[in-house]
Amino acid sequence: MSSGTPDNQAGPAPTAVSGTATAAAVTGTGTGQQWLARYGESLLGVFGSPQRVLVRGAGSLVWDADGKEYLDLLGGIAVNALGHAHPFVTSVISSQLATLGHVSNFFTSPTQIALAEKLLMLSAAPAGSKVFFANSGTEANEAAFKLARAHGKANSVPGGPARTTILALEGAFHGRTMGALALTAKQAYREPFEPMPAGVKHLPFNDVDALRAALDGTVAALIIEPIQGEAGVRPLSPEYLRAARELTTRAGALLILDEVQTGVGRTGDWFAGTAAGITPDAMTLAKGLGGGFPIGALVTFGEAPSQLLSAGQHGTTFGGNPVATAAALATLHVLESQDVLANVRTVGALLADGLARTDGVTEVRAFGLLIGFDLAQPVAAAVVTAALEAGFIINAPRPNTIRLAPPLILTAGQAASFLAALPALIEHASAPQSAEGAIS
Ligand SMILES: *Cc1c(COP(=O)(O)O)cnc(C)c1O
Repeated sequence: MSSGTPDNQAGPAPTAVSGTATAAAVTGTGTGQQWLARYGESLLGVFGSPQRVLVRGAGSLVWDADGKEYLDLLGGIAVNALGHAHPFVTSVISSQLATLGHVSNFFTSPTQIALAEKLLMLSAAPAGSKVFFANSGTEANEAAFKLARAHGKANSVPGGPARTTILALEGAFHGRTMGALALTAKQAYREPFEPMPAGVKHLPFNDVDALRAALDGTVAALIIEPIQGEAGVRPLSPEYLRAARELTTRAGALLILDEVQTGVGRTGDWFAGTAAGITPDAMTLAKGLGGGFPIGALVTFGEAPSQLLSAGQHGTTFGGNPVATAAALATLHVLESQDVLANVRTVGALLADGLARTDGVTEVRAFGLLIGFDLAQPVAAAVVTAALEAGFIINAPRPNTIRLAPPLILTAGQAASFLAALPALIEHASAPQSAEGAIS
């Protein structure tokens, strides 16, 4: 754990802790290799071995512990909407923390109220709509799960079947806590932890007939991602979204949109569902909302869904705290005042175009700056490794699929630099020797 630099000895003396300091004052420093060795000895292995140790970022660039620079085309998985260390967001967060950091939900704060109002405005929510703040996507979906059950209880026919079923889709990803995991389709995520919370059914993707058949009097809600991000950026058709709205209304079930990945400007619109002309009964948000600071939200649309959860029925210690809500307000302010969504559409179209022309790319699914593209061969993991060596951070949600979810402030020039590098990365990954992971 020694790096030999003077910084390494600069641990804080208990009597002398005051004023400003960097995190290095409490961590010490090290090389990437040294840090990763310590990681392996101290962190639970659920993420496997991290690819790099990152120490610094600015805009769409990040640097690792050995000083190597990367263009971040994953944005912390669709989180860093304004890139890294955005000056305005950083300044608002710092000053909020230096003023009032946390108060619990026995109290409220101006930033919490202003953010709720802002989200209701941006999502064009009708009168009576409300917001609940959480700390992550999975937590926002846990709140939605409880909202669905509360709706079912309030709307079951006396003496009739219980309205407890929640419908989700094959390929769905809604999070890793037990309720959200029950909504998530992937067997490998679920099986080790069975039994799952009961009452969830998965339907075939984009299949209106299957949905119509499943919507009986036992269904409390349907939860869908307008575009499935973890499944490789797979969109539901506009027809399916419209049918989902119509059929759930007719069946007396809630329509819940999980916009944790697609929301807050990612697709070039504020929300993918509302852009498709759909007003859900509830919508969950997280990833990009805080511009890198953890925050999640459940938005309930209209009077009835907004009255389902009463005092004491749900809660959180951290959710909606002044710093997190200030971070989100600052992020939304920049997105709005700089017309960042126009940049998302322009640079997204540029990437989509270039990818469609790239040898070895067989399909492109691009929605603003949420982009999935398929390769002719299942070499996505090798492409990710080659890209890292070449200074690009990308991601492989499937063996033959690459996902890009860069900062929404990515420039045309940065997009072009990736497009220029990509053919060689694919070629390299597709060559026989890449089986051993060799990068020459
Ligand atoms: C990432 C994601 C989640 C889970 O969010 P966490 O913050 O990781 O808990 C839920 N739903 C969707 C669509 C996501 O992309």
